[in-house]
Amino acid sequence: MLNYQAPARDMEFLLFDLFQVQREWADVPAFQDIDPDLVRAVLSGAGKLAGEVLAPVNQAGDREGCRWTDGLVQAPTPFKPAYRQLAEGGWLGLSGNPAYGGQGMPKLLGCLVEEMFWGANTAFYLYGALTVGAAICLDAHGSEAQKALYLPKLYSGEWSAAMDLTEAQAGTDLGLLRTKAEPAADGSYRLTGTKIFITSGEHDLSENIVHLVIARVHGAPKGTKGISLFIVPKFIPDAAGRPGKRNGVASGAIEHKMGVIGSATNLMNYENAVGYRVGEENAGLACMFTMMNYERLAVGLQGLGAGELAYQQAAAYARERLQGRAPGGPQRPEAEADSLLVHPDVRRMLLTIRAYTEGGRAFAMLVGRSLDRAKYSGDKRCQALAELLTPIAKAFLSDKGFECAVLAQQVFGGHGYIKEWGMEQIVRDTRIAPIYEGTNGVQALDLVGRKVLRDGGAALRVFVQEMTVDEVPKEYEEPLRSAFDRLLGVTDWVVAQAPEDPNLPGAASTDYLELAGLTIYAWLWARMAQIAPDEPFGEAKRRTAAFFFAKLLPQTAALDHSIRAGSGAVMGMADELF
Ligand SMILES: Cc1cc2nc3c(=O)[nH]c(=O)nc-3n(C[C@H](O)[C@H](O)[C@H](O)COP(=O)(O)OP(=O)(O)OC[C@H]3O[C@@H](n4cnc5c(N)ncnc54)[C@H](O)[C@@H]3O)c2cc1C
Repeated sequence: MLNYQAPARDMEFLLFDLFQVQREWADVPAFQDIDPDLVRAVLSGAGKLAGEVLAPVNQAGDREGCRWTDGLVQAPTPFKPAYRQLAEGGWLGLSGNPAYGGQGMPKLLGCLVEEMFWGANTAFYLYGALTVGAAICLDAHGSEAQKALYLPKLYSGEWSAAMDLTEAQAGTDLGLLRTKAEPAADGSYRLTGTKIFITSGEHDLSENIVHLVIARVHGAPKGTKGISLFIVPKFIPDAAGRPGKRNGVASGAIEHKMGVIGSATNLMNYENAVGYRVGEENAGLACMFTMMNYERLAVGLQGLGAGELAYQQAAAYARERLQGRAPGGPQRPEAEADSLLVHPDVRRMLLTIRAYTEGGRAFAMLVGRSLDRAKYSGDKRCQALAELLTPIAKAFLSDKGFECAVLAQQVFGGHGYIKEWGMEQIVRDTRIAPIYEGTNGVQALDLVGRKVLRDGGAALRVFVQEMTVDEVPKEYEEPLRSAFDRLLGVTDWVVAQAPEDPNLPGAASTDYLELAGLTIYAWLWARMAQIAPDEPFGEAKRRTAAFFFAKLLPQTAALDHSIRAGSGAVMGMADELF
């Protein structure tokens, strides 16, 4: 079984020691009632749900999968009681707007809760994550009536949500979408078209499904400037807000896929489906981005949760499995062999996972904090930072999550490849994270092409200035300074070269995102090492920090070289030679 135990000690360390939430939240009126006891109660409640309810049905959901019959989809049987507990516990409204029944908790805390749910059962939590994201979008862009009708139902989990963007010919390039929306006499619209790959587009866990659909109103401009956003409920709410008449939106099929098998991925058909516009006509993509940005961080958290789950299995296995002898002579002469932990290469794998997972947790919280600051202080610099960090959070956390899943599988040797231990499921379930919600290649392009080049690297520069080396262990001051110089230097180089070479941002972007991610993690690791307590937990932190600086941060030198190689090496070969 894939056991999952919430990393509560680490989470408390990050909240109270690294991010000092007592101080952080003291000046925010919305967070006045949040004291350490409440924070611990939230963490412990979420950890219990994750470990005792969601994790035990992870493999069962993978085995059973979803069933499609005549347009209706059944989610895996054991997901039903688990979903009830998720909903009834109020977890979907944790960071929701209190005016509509949400609990108004900080995103900084929400990140940790979501990491636990993803880690315990990725396929299951996809039903929740889309609902949370849709609620954020409606809260930001919906009319008063839309908020009053939909938000309480979404926060309570009675209704769930889906995000309907992708079409067969419109994946990354949403400007190519063809789903049409015709205005109706009563101010609503009628939608016609087909979408593919819609997560939670149809299932039987909630009494209604709220689709947020992008479509083109008759006569709208071509491309992304002609996209509008609509609420298309599966059952049209009646005057009292109860699910009424069945709408013309239905699942035409579900996908058979590599992983997240318990999550229903639907082909959705809209036949004169009643839709209610959100925001202005032709401004739908900007509204949708509110949801997509949330989902991007959420998918990063998916990778992070997977890394934690994978580590827990691999570390337990490495302690127990006896193979070979320590290079310096037997460590357990009384036994037939030593444990896997005596082998340097096994330790390399475990420490790599740990460095990326614990560093990733701190990084996700940094992004959560900047989102909270942007929302509650209205400070434009915080907004710019959140925007800068979002593509890194999506891509770096999910890439590293997948890498960690594969490394943990490797620790199991052949036992990682067979189904019994569950490691192959973690690998399959995590493989989607670098693909959906905007592929990681597209995230990297967003980082370089939009976030860095747009302001000539100004927001990045401000952020690097904030990552001071004042409060880090002496031995990390110099490597950190070099890492910052490298990031700033290569940023200047890209900013200077890009106008001369249109292919440069695309050729450099994945390496650049990786370099930025490693640099930020280095700073977080140095800070964590500085404040780690004098006990085994702190000793492990300091050792993992040392591993990060010695073995992972040096990759930035190679990335720097690769970026400065420019676009010639990738663009030189003619199309017909591929
Ligand atoms: C399991 C699953 C669940 C999903 N859930 C949802 C959902 O709930 N809602 C939804 O709307 N969609 C969903 N999707 C769709 C998903 O978001 C898309 O598959 C993804 O965005 C990529 O689009 P695509 O598959 O058409 O690939 P393409 O856009 O065809 O891309 C193919 C490759 O080309 C690269 N590429 C494309 N354009 C560019 C560019 N401009 N610059 C650089 N590289 C580029 C990509 O990075 C990728 O490597 C889901 C997909 C899957 C598999």
